[in-house]
Amino acid sequence: MQAVGSISKTQALTVDDYVAGVLAGDRTVLARAITLIESQARPHQVQAQDILQRLLPHTGKAKRIGISGAPGVGKSTFIEALGCHLIDNEHRVAVLTIDPSSAISGGSVLADKTRMDRLSRELNAFIRPSPAGGSLGGVAGRTRETMLVCEAAGFDTIIVESLGVGQAEIALRSMVDFFLLLLLPGAGDELQGIKKGIMEIADAVLINKADGDNRSAAQQARLEQESALRCLLPATSGWKTEAGLCSARTGEGVAEAWKRIEAFYRELEPKGIIAARRRQQMLDWLADLLREELQRDFYQDPRVQSRLPGVRKAVLQGEMTAVQAAATLLAARNGQSKISEL
Ligand code: GDP
Repeated sequence: MQAVGSISKTQALTVDDYVAGVLAGDRTVLARAITLIESQARPHQVQAQDILQRLLPHTGKAKRIGISGAPGVGKSTFIEALGCHLIDNEHRVAVLTIDPSSAISGGSVLADKTRMDRLSRELNAFIRPSPAGGSLGGVAGRTRETMLVCEAAGFDTIIVESLGVGQAEIALRSMVDFFLLLLLPGAGDELQGIKKGIMEIADAVLINKADGDNRSAAQQARLEQESALRCLLPATSGWKTEAGLCSARTGEGVAEAWKRIEAFYRELEPKGIIAARRRQQMLDWLADLLREELQRDFYQDPRVQSRLPGVRKAVLQGEMTAVQAAATLLAARNGQSKISEL
């Protein structure tokens, strides 16, 4: 990937410039296109949508991998190791993060650069943390769009990392083909914030830090996870979720993890299972957007705003059920003074 000298970091760009730059794999233009996508300003959003529309035919060819796990499990060390392994094998890798907590923690932009030291210096790698703030759906929505732009820029593997636990994982699952869960040996499921629901959405489980003194604990953890997985339905029909071992630090097990991901595509792509998942994800995304937009509209409506405190109070004081309250607010929103139908 080349940095095209003709476009500076500040020069105003047209939609044509953005599209041409992204398709040419120009990193500066790519980074600026993502900044545009992340912008809250209305004119930027309009321009971003024009760009995405034009780039859409050039998207969809990458492998979309989600990586999740509790803080400290070794996600960034693993992504560094996997990313470098891929680059050594002629791949081009984009790493994106979903960080719903960054609004609180103050962002992780700088930390990310140093978290993946070698990868961040590779020309065939591109690392981009999601911005702080916004709703979870909003952050994830921008990550989805960022993923598309990276695909149009020619990255063949997109790794999306979730920095949060819980809801962020569900958002992550909804945008990737393959979901990898990293666990620690001997830490106990509760300590790792692992709920059964998270195991259920994993296409592979890897016990990281299976090195040094941890080795036998890791082997034990793997057996436990294998037996837990046997009781679950597969996250992807036609695919067996297995538990493996790796050490992101030594690199042991990283190539094997990638082989497993390749096998996933080799086996499921011809059956149309990945394409079907992506179609469903697009529909879910649309539904999410509509839900968010309708909700925002609803709460911004002055008629709702004026009735809301009173209705809330009535619910708390037991004068109204939540069902009646919702119906009252919806009626107010529709310009009706009374509830026509409960
Ligand atoms: P993250 O919060 O999930 O991104 O975790 P990091 O990648 O930042 O790793 C947390 C700590 O665990 C760091 O000190 C790493 O050096 C260490 N670590 C990561 N992977 C391994 C591993 O495979 N073996 C060992 N022994 N330590 C590791």
